[in-house]
Amino acid sequence: MGFLGSKAGLTPNLDRVALESDVFTHAYSQVPLTTPSHATMLTGTYPQFSGLRDLGDPLGKEIPFLPDILHHHGYATAAFVGSQVLDPKSVAIPGFDRGFDTYDADFHSRRAGESRYESEERRAEVVVARAENWLAQHKGRPFFIWIHFYDPHEPYDPPTPFKEKYAAAPYDGEIAYVDSAFGKLLGFLHSQGLYTASLIAVAADHGEAFGEHGEEGHGFFLYDETIHVPLLIKLPGQRMAGTRSSGSVGLVDLAPTILSEAKIEAPPAMQGIALTKQTSSYRSRADSPWPAHQQYSETDYPLRAFGWSSLHALRVEKYLYVDAPHRELYDRIEDPGSFENLATRSPAVVDTLSSLLGQFYQSTSGNTPAATPLTMDQAEQLRALGYISTGADVATVSSNDRGADPKEKIQIANRLHRALLATEADQYNDAIALLTEVVKDEPNLALANLELGSAYSRLGDYAAAMPWLMNAVRLSPDSGKANMELGMAFVSTNRWAEAAPQLEAARSKAPGSEDVVFTLATVYEQLGRTVDAEQAYKRALEMDPEDYRANLFLGRLLAMSGEPTSALPYLRKAVRIQPNSADAHKFLANVFVQLGDESDARQERATQDQLLAKP
Ligand SMILES: [Zn+2]
Repeated sequence: MGFLGSKAGLTPNLDRVALESDVFTHAYSQVPLTTPSHATMLTGTYPQFSGLRDLGDPLGKEIPFLPDILHHHGYATAAFVGSQVLDPKSVAIPGFDRGFDTYDADFHSRRAGESRYESEERRAEVVVARAENWLAQHKGRPFFIWIHFYDPHEPYDPPTPFKEKYAAAPYDGEIAYVDSAFGKLLGFLHSQGLYTASLIAVAADHGEAFGEHGEEGHGFFLYDETIHVPLLIKLPGQRMAGTRSSGSVGLVDLAPTILSEAKIEAPPAMQGIALTKQTSSYRSRADSPWPAHQQYSETDYPLRAFGWSSLHALRVEKYLYVDAPHRELYDRIEDPGSFENLATRSPAVVDTLSSLLGQFYQSTSGNTPAATPLTMDQAEQLRALGYISTGADVATVSSNDRGADPKEKIQIANRLHRALLATEADQYNDAIALLTEVVKDEPNLALANLELGSAYSRLGDYAAAMPWLMNAVRLSPDSGKANMELGMAFVSTNRWAEAAPQLEAARSKAPGSEDVVFTLATVYEQLGRTVDAEQAYKRALEMDPEDYRANLFLGRLLAMSGEPTSALPYLRKAVRIQPNSADAHKFLANVFVQLGDESDARQERATQDQLLAKP
């Protein structure tokens, strides 16, 4: 960001708006994760109040929500987002469409052959084009529009020409690309006469780490590389143009600030403070009940992903205090990079800040319900988005047993993270090398065992896969994913008797998976358990009546059991779903023979022969 001192020249458009804005040089994110950080911005509340602390937590109806409030005051409201992690229809953030007239998301998990930009993510230019379309239709009345760019997130792959220009620094390339898309939006706002009268707030939800404290990406730690964020507010008429405010502010302050400018009273539940209420207040934060310049941040991600300790941090005056199993204290003036931990040298300061943090946390917490454990499908969706999720019940970690200190485990997290990226790219050998290291350090990490076993399975090495998958089953009693992978490995090696109990366990833990039910039916058939097989095929067809294989196999099973009349509709349907399947026509011909219908049987055989004759 040029307006924050970067000399890289990545953000000419943002820099131009910054000159007409109030620039907050010390703005801090409350959570270094996309979904809960945006929740902080739009609710004006802390995560301990809203309960939105990690991906998957829903927005409760009682939590104040900026778009909802503005909508009630007559504003047209719209969201244009760039990622599935902000899609209210995905597992990541149910309820986030409250109060929006339009919420443009509609993402889905990536299918084979699709790029991430056709499924779970949108390029900034696509987001801008869709937003402009909406603005053109709604510019005649007061509006609130939230435009979200996801490009500067892993994987760092800017489009051409930024890809080539920033080949050595692709993250920079993504920032430059987003700035160019933002420039297009600005041009549009000017051309529509919308720029001057609008309040425009620009913020990042969190930063990215590049190994400063061993972290790659974001979510694990609470140091400045992921928590110190850009924030600028251009007010209507360019009031406050050229102002630079150096007091500490939080993203939690954004919603109350926007309400204050719109002359709408913020609901009492909002915990942030309007930055522009008085021109001087955000510098001294005189209306805050807490010491000046205090900023709270937290992350639950190490706990939810690994069962390690969550982290909480307080930035107050010159100190950064991190509440971890081994506490940390940094001098933000002498040591802005937070490299020298002063905790053992200054125990009194640490104790004071620790109790200040505890009081702040207590007084700002709501009665949020405990997180509900994720289902197998939900955990899988989040995993596909690059977030590690065990689907484990985090409530089993008691507050006395804080779990391991994330800073002592970060290399393990990095390896697992890289292994998941390798798996996504079908690079199973790379994934196996990384995961082998991970399970050496953390033999009881269920996800690592599961991923290692699954990677061997993808390579067809089921003998190598099975011990890891058996570990995963033992270590993750709540999730059906490990049972399913182990069951599938048994199926692939024709070990039907062992496959059945695993798939049964997977079915009872994740009743929504049609694939599991169908495979279980085939296993029952192999074991001669005809009644169970029939029942399971029928269950699979209840879940997906258009499943070709289930129709075909059930029809064949019924025909072989001497029930051609019952078989007929299933095989007819299989033929209708896949008219070019020789098998379907063959089984149908056999049923016609059983029914004594020679002419139909001949016709089906003829079709079968034709299909088989095709090259
Ligand atoms: Zn993000």
